[in-house]
Amino acid sequence: MLELAVEQIAMGQRAADKGEALALLADRLVADGLVAEGYLAGLQAREAQGSTFLGQGIAIPHGTPQTRDLVFATGVRLLQFPEGVDWGDGQTVYLAIGIAARSDEHLRLLQLLTRALGETDLAEALRRASSAEALLKLLQGAPQALALDAQLVGLNLAAEDFDELAWRGARLLQRAGCVDSGFAAVLQQAEPLPLGEGLWWLHSERQVRQPGLAFLTPQQPLRYREQPLNGLFCLASLGAAHEALLERLCEVLIEGRGQMLYQATSSRAVLEVLGGEVPADWPSVRVVLANAHGLHARPAKVLAQLAKGFAGEVRVRLQDSPQPAVSVKSLSKLLSLGARRGQVLELIAEPEIAAEALPVLLAAIEQGLGEEVEPLPQAHQAQALPAEALRAPLPGSTLQGVAAAPGIASGPAHVCVEREIDYPLRGASPAQERARLRQAIDQVHSELHGLVQRSAAAIGEIFVTHQEMLADPALTDEVELRLAQGESAAAAWMAVIEAAARQQEALHDALLAERAADLRDIGRRVLAQLCGVQGAAEPEQPYVLVMAEVGPSDVARLDPARVAGIVTAQGGATAHSAIVARALGIPAVVGAGAAVLLLDNGTPLLLDGQRGRVAVDPPADELQRALAERDARERRLQIAWANRHEPALTRDGHAVEVFANIGESNGIDKVVEQGAEGIGLLRTELIFMAHPQLPDVATQEAEYRRVLDGLGGRPLVVRTLDVGGDKPLPYWPIAVEENPFLGVRGVRLTLQRPQVMEDQLRALLRAADDRPLRIMFPMVGQMQEWRAAKAMVERLREEIPVADLQVGIMVEVPSAALLAPQLAREVDFFSIGTNDLTQYTLAIDRGHPSLSAQADGLHPAVLNLIDMTVRAAHAQGKWVGVCGELAADPQAVAVLLGLEVDELSVAARSVAEVKALVRQADLSTARALAREALQQDSAEAVRALLERY
Ligand code: PEP
Ligand code: MG
Repeated sequence: MLELAVEQIAMGQRAADKGEALALLADRLVADGLVAEGYLAGLQAREAQGSTFLGQGIAIPHGTPQTRDLVFATGVRLLQFPEGVDWGDGQTVYLAIGIAARSDEHLRLLQLLTRALGETDLAEALRRASSAEALLKLLQGAPQALALDAQLVGLNLAAEDFDELAWRGARLLQRAGCVDSGFAAVLQQAEPLPLGEGLWWLHSERQVRQPGLAFLTPQQPLRYREQPLNGLFCLASLGAAHEALLERLCEVLIEGRGQMLYQATSSRAVLEVLGGEVPADWPSVRVVLANAHGLHARPAKVLAQLAKGFAGEVRVRLQDSPQPAVSVKSLSKLLSLGARRGQVLELIAEPEIAAEALPVLLAAIEQGLGEEVEPLPQAHQAQALPAEALRAPLPGSTLQGVAAAPGIASGPAHVCVEREIDYPLRGASPAQERARLRQAIDQVHSELHGLVQRSAAAIGEIFVTHQEMLADPALTDEVELRLAQGESAAAAWMAVIEAAARQQEALHDALLAERAADLRDIGRRVLAQLCGVQGAAEPEQPYVLVMAEVGPSDVARLDPARVAGIVTAQGGATAHSAIVARALGIPAVVGAGAAVLLLDNGTPLLLDGQRGRVAVDPPADELQRALAERDARERRLQIAWANRHEPALTRDGHAVEVFANIGESNGIDKVVEQGAEGIGLLRTELIFMAHPQLPDVATQEAEYRRVLDGLGGRPLVVRTLDVGGDKPLPYWPIAVEENPFLGVRGVRLTLQRPQVMEDQLRALLRAADDRPLRIMFPMVGQMQEWRAAKAMVERLREEIPVADLQVGIMVEVPSAALLAPQLAREVDFFSIGTNDLTQYTLAIDRGHPSLSAQADGLHPAVLNLIDMTVRAAHAQGKWVGVCGELAADPQAVAVLLGLEVDELSVAARSVAEVKALVRQADLSTARALAREALQQDSAEAVRALLERY
């Protein structure tokens, strides 16, 4: 990943000329192990092809495709030359950023840098910077751009007075992610400023996350402080982000054009006046970028030069991106797009020059902007082989899927498949399309009302939010504009919904991404109404939900009172949606195959979430047997619940600890109340995710302290931050990796960011006092990773003594299990993460849509690794836990017992059941069973063996 950090910077360098500067850079890259000797030739060759001068005293020397193989690791090194180096063409460089990258990772760096390049006199500041920290600040500290787009404009709002309008402004800013919920109150205290022409200005810097400006106009004429109130600007102010906008606004007012704002009938018209967007009637063309390494500095420079040859304005944006169009004449703006091969560029030009400029720019991009380009594959070449003909499962048949959440459920199938809905792009007339859309929205509104009435309170709230979204004037306003241009109601509606959803996703915030899912949800409902596509009505009685895949946001909407069970076509037991289903206690079978989606709605289904089976329209006697078994299980669970606080002892008196897995610091009392004897896995990344920014030591300490307080002396096993792979942190952008599960994740990532790791360990040790704290590191695969992490704990321990501390690792990479004898000499304990251990052992992505069904932790290959780990640990007197999902699999408990695992850590709601399963077992029988399981040749064979047991 290309990120900037102080360690990469060497200050106060001197070089007589460019050649010497390149040699210094190459030496540094070689010395730091990023590239092999010989990379200098690549840097020189690259400069010979064209200068890497970027602007503002910065150059970015990098190699050529021929020297890419000399790159060992992606990275950058920065040399500051306070006296300057002549870079040719009259340019002087004060900062050279040497890049070692095999592919186009440096585009991300360029995107970062271009924020700084917009600064006026950066070159001088770079020259004068006296420390690496100061220099880094200059590069990274560019102000955030002001958010101002269609969703921040609310026109003709039914507001009764100034306060109501201000409140609406705060809401728009909050929805756009610019401010926290307290901003509305803060704004009420701010002093309003009259701008003239009935326009007012309100601003505050408090509760602001990102600078943004909202503009609102009232439906009926209002007055405020004895002056007209025609429109209100609400600014969430942060730094100087709004200055340019304010200047433009002053010009508009001085020229007496204020009415163009408050009489505007569309948000686009407002944005045009304020200069945020390109006028809608400017001609545009689209072209796919074919350059292998995207729009990097060299081709971007060619494009900017070419555009400068035309007298008028030409802008470019990425199709389907929420980013506004930027000037093609600005190299830094072009780089800020971060355009990659295969992405579509939309070029937009002022009408006076469009006919001349657009074809020239289009042809130049198609020809590669000075680079050789390979044509992109045509869409039809990428078409898949014809799909195998699928048939709906026959009545009486049984489907085998993956056991994802235990329990037996029966009910009519309710198949939810998103089918493509075709719709016309052009409409009859704006008036007719408007009426159709209004009617569809009204119908969906009452449909949602029905859902609110029928659902449990928490789920009903989701539908209330959907109703609010439907009524959002920002959406309808944009739609209106498109209708006026002749689009059909469906096309206009879907385009606006999709753009708004993408905008939310682009903010890389988990909550806002969920809002994108909500937007798409209402989008589809309205589209279905418009096109007369009937979704299957939700059955009145509890039903079995059948879907391709249940995403976490779908699960959040499930009402356990109405959904008796879940069957999915895709997915595996450790996919995060399966984990959530388990937490909700809804029996589930996943990965049952695509044929389930062809079932008729209402087909009676019987699913066994423990065995992973789905019976289609089963005979009456089978149904009866299963329901009797369900009732028996219910009774077993009741007994298990009654004994949940008793220890888990096998019939022959062997004790196993049963702990809980958690992801938040609240509600520990409830976890203990469910019988947990401690916490076996605190997934701290979930705590980090609950904060809008990296929590500092004090914040973390408070979180960990809350858990330890709640545990009242019971042990706490904490896993240090495990991000990367499928677990992104919104505020810690990680470069896209081709293979994220095999990339920089878990301890690999935190060791690269020792400050983050040190802060976390410091907070943990401080929170511990004399309570039992166990710290473990995720994804350890090498001895030196463990030693580096352990050394940090030891160092901090001298500073913050802790009475009862153990330090261990998660065993979730096969190499750790294979190295267990060596590791066991040094660790205090192992905790086996069977979710990842299974995916890495079987080389099956745990979230893979079709393969993850085979990622079964009872595979003998995985069991053998568990066995090796336990034996190695016990030989050194160390303990072993299992904290992956396998620990809660009722079939697996006996095997894990037989392998002599000391602790099982499961979701809190499974604790009582797992304890009961331990009590039913007998250690000597379980040992024999485990030995037999280790000899099997497949997971199915192991499960068949356990079925007989
Ligand atoms: C595991 O991999 O088994 C584990 C417990 O960690 P996670 O599921 O959080 O990756
Ligand atoms: Mg894991």
